[in-house]
Amino acid sequence: MAQSRRLIVDPTQVQGNHLALTAEQHHYLCDILRLRSGDRFIALDGQGQAWQAVLKAGTAVESSRSPYTATLLAPLTLPSEPLSPITLMTALPKGNAFDEVVRQATELGVMRIVPVLSDRTLLRPSVQKLERWRRIALEATEQSERAIAPTILDPCPFPVAVEQWQAESPRPMAAMCVARREAIHLLNWLPGMTKSPLAAGVWVAVGPEGGWTEAEVAQAIAAGFDPVSLGGPILRAVTAAIAAVCLVSAAYQAQQPDIPDIHRPTD
Ligand code: SAH
Repeated sequence: MAQSRRLIVDPTQVQGNHLALTAEQHHYLCDILRLRSGDRFIALDGQGQAWQAVLKAGTAVESSRSPYTATLLAPLTLPSEPLSPITLMTALPKGNAFDEVVRQATELGVMRIVPVLSDRTLLRPSVQKLERWRRIALEATEQSERAIAPTILDPCPFPVAVEQWQAESPRPMAAMCVARREAIHLLNWLPGMTKSPLAAGVWVAVGPEGGWTEAEVAQAIAAGFDPVSLGGPILRAVTAAIAAVCLVSAAYQAQQPDIPDIHRPTD
């Protein structure tokens, strides 16, 4: 039970051993997790730092007009996050479909999400959408008990995303998922148990509902992406993104030694 009492906070909310909670966080702790004054939870900053925290007297529901605060008791040693330097570069689907991509890719352990404006997704999302995705990523980080939230970059045009990959050093492996083409299956493309190529990271690119254009595929291949298949059926863009991340993250997890449980000071 204690494991699920987790709250991701912004580092600016922490001052010394004092944690200023927002009304929303207070609602989550008191009304959803049903904590009361004096109860403990784990506060994380989403960047690898964590603390054992205790809700302060006067912050329970019965006195919800008091300032919402908690005291940070002790820093916690988090197990090192399984190393899955996966970047999901994905064209923005229509409507709110990207919410699901962000949520599930976060649960599956991606390190970074690059929302791409491709030839067939011209709509530039609003700043509010980007904030929403970052909030969803934090929620999913909390929910899946990750210590570090993935970075969601500002949406960028397809060529800029390719340049970002090219600028990485050492350069990660990169796969572009292409439907209706002869291409090696992503599962066979991942180099299985050999550690070295995976260690530099993997970028995996997934197109929009209408698919990548021929020009985009040609540009990516010319830049050094390998075209890969996810199998025979044509998947929806959201499904394809999750299927691709699943395969890559499984390849990483298969390489990880057992991860110890989080260390908690005894009560
Ligand atoms: N409408 C397009 C398919 C787009 S699917 C068509 O009819 O051809 C959206 C994206 O999901 C594609 O650009 C590709 O990146 C990925 N995708 C879907 N199914 C796939 C498959 N079987 N293999 C590889 N990629 C796939």
